[in-house]
Amino acid sequence: MEGIVERVTAVHQRITSAAARVGRDPAHITLVAVTKTWPPETVLAAYAAGLRHFGENRAEELAEKRPYLESHLGANSGVIWHLIGTLQSRKTAWAADHADVFHALDRLKIAHRLARDLAANGRAANPQFALPIFLEVNVSGEETKSGFDCTQWETDEGQTAVLRAAAAEVITLPGLALAGLMTMAPWDAPPEEVRAVFRRTRQLATRLQTDLALPTPLQLSMGMTDDFEIAIEEGATHVRVGRAIFGERP
Ligand SMILES: *Cc1c(COP(=O)(O)O)cnc(C)c1O
Repeated sequence: MEGIVERVTAVHQRITSAAARVGRDPAHITLVAVTKTWPPETVLAAYAAGLRHFGENRAEELAEKRPYLESHLGANSGVIWHLIGTLQSRKTAWAADHADVFHALDRLKIAHRLARDLAANGRAANPQFALPIFLEVNVSGEETKSGFDCTQWETDEGQTAVLRAAAAEVITLPGLALAGLMTMAPWDAPPEEVRAVFRRTRQLATRLQTDLALPTPLQLSMGMTDDFEIAIEEGATHVRVGRAIFGERP
């Protein structure tokens, strides 16, 4: 992991600059270092470089790496594990056991499974340990994108109704806490198109907050290596960055 300290510093500087351009406090932006496919030793190097938030897109990989890290750093290392990829219903128990935050809830069935598993493993017993949930929304309209269909939410009342019902259900489920919305920008799109997707996601979050009379704004998980600065300018509270920190994945 040659140069990881320098790359982490560079990413932090880019986050600070992007926040400054729109008058935001960079302290309100969480850098989730995406460690998928990298060996646990790489996560240890990232920890030594000061990172504390790590993101995995597969539940089984998370279930391997978290115990490894804990065996090296202890249970009070301050590491927060983010599961950033969609879950299949037969894998929810891994997420319930090992994820501190889940960014990619794409259907209610998964929320119900998670609630069941969080009750079974005891986490649901203490509301303080509720699993923060981001609903994944597909705003760009790309068919490869998962998430609730919000491609035309401004004009399609049905789309907002489905999302609103899902958010309301997550709020009522023991063990789960509604954190916000997550989205992915279209691949290879021009910056203005990417920006529009992030902006529309932020507006959707505001709409949801109003409709559900939520006391605090929803958080926004958006932005990866190629577009995290645009995402921050458009309100991202969590950026999920892999390659800018670790280089091309093995
Ligand atoms: C892999 C991945 C990322 C990070 O992508 P980079 O381009 O390496 O920054 C972010 N979010 C999700 C959901 C991912 O699967």
